[in-house]
Amino acid sequence: MKIIDLRSDTVTLPTPRMRKAIFDAELGDDVFEEDPTVRRLENIAAEIMGKESALLVTSGTMGNLVSILTHCRRGDEVILGDLSHTFLNEVGGISALGGIHPHTVKNLEDGTMDLSEIESAIRSDNIHYPRTRLICIENTHNRCYGSPLSVKYTNEVCDLARKYNLKVHLDGARIFNAAVALNVDVKDLTRNVDSLSFCLSKGLSAPVGSVVCGTAEFIKEARRYRKMLGGGMRQAGIIAAAGIVALEDMIPRIKEDHDNARLLAEGISQIPELCIDLDKVKTNIVYFDLATDKISSEELLKRMNEKGIKFLSTGPNRFRMVTHYGITQEDIRITVETLKKVLIL
Ligand SMILES: *Cc1c(COP(=O)(O)O)cnc(C)c1O
Repeated sequence: MKIIDLRSDTVTLPTPRMRKAIFDAELGDDVFEEDPTVRRLENIAAEIMGKESALLVTSGTMGNLVSILTHCRRGDEVILGDLSHTFLNEVGGISALGGIHPHTVKNLEDGTMDLSEIESAIRSDNIHYPRTRLICIENTHNRCYGSPLSVKYTNEVCDLARKYNLKVHLDGARIFNAAVALNVDVKDLTRNVDSLSFCLSKGLSAPVGSVVCGTAEFIKEARRYRKMLGGGMRQAGIIAAAGIVALEDMIPRIKEDHDNARLLAEGISQIPELCIDLDKVKTNIVYFDLATDKISSEELLKRMNEKGIKFLSTGPNRFRMVTHYGITQEDIRITVETLKKVLIL
């Protein structure tokens, strides 16, 4: 039985060209900064993002942690969305390992935070308060329907930060999905932020890795924190080789994932037992709700799983499906048909 795995775009497997690049990679010890393939990846990534410098890290979680540790000292405060991945899904690393205090601001359904609420969250100079150092934004916003944040909004956050002498970090795990959905150069979304981290291992389909980008000075310091966290890897060109292919080959095909997500969402909208807001589907993430009490979420997941279709439950009666490399239009058709069959109650 063919498995259609829609749990996440992290389940993607390396392409044949990635496997070949891994096999052929020229290697060295990257802790000595002597791995030519890692260097190449970092140079390419910095160039694409319009930043001076870049650093390969093990994961998106490490990318955000290294970046936030580099911006903040113990006891400093970071403003971030209450539905942000860093706040919800990164094991509280910034607090546990950095002593950095999270100050959450409500995420709106489009993944933004109200600018005036961000401004209100910025601390004044008062002996009772931690010092605000950093604002984090997430693009695309995972929990907010995979929404892309616009260039305009990004720049407004950066302007606000500058006014208060704060830094901005962009969690761009799926920044290319945002650029493709908005039809802009990715640089337009990264130009004014101080740092960003993006994943090679999601929509771009590389097996491992994320990249942090920023000024040369920032990346030099981030390299120390990466080492501190145990992320100094040796012949990491094995990983970087696939990352280079990811950046060379995989960006133009992201549109296919968005088209498939749209097709999936439209199919789901035709099923009376399910409920979806089609307007919210803008990238490769599709959230929908169970709109009947004749079947439980667990039972729906179980029955679909038995038919080889995997996806996640992300809340009471709420599900998430993510399209990615390896998921075809035909898979989407099968998924919708199977949902219909399983929901004949
Ligand atoms: C997946 C994800 C991360 C973390 O990436 P890992 O590589 O899984 O650690 C960070 N931010 C967002 C928005 C994500 O979706």
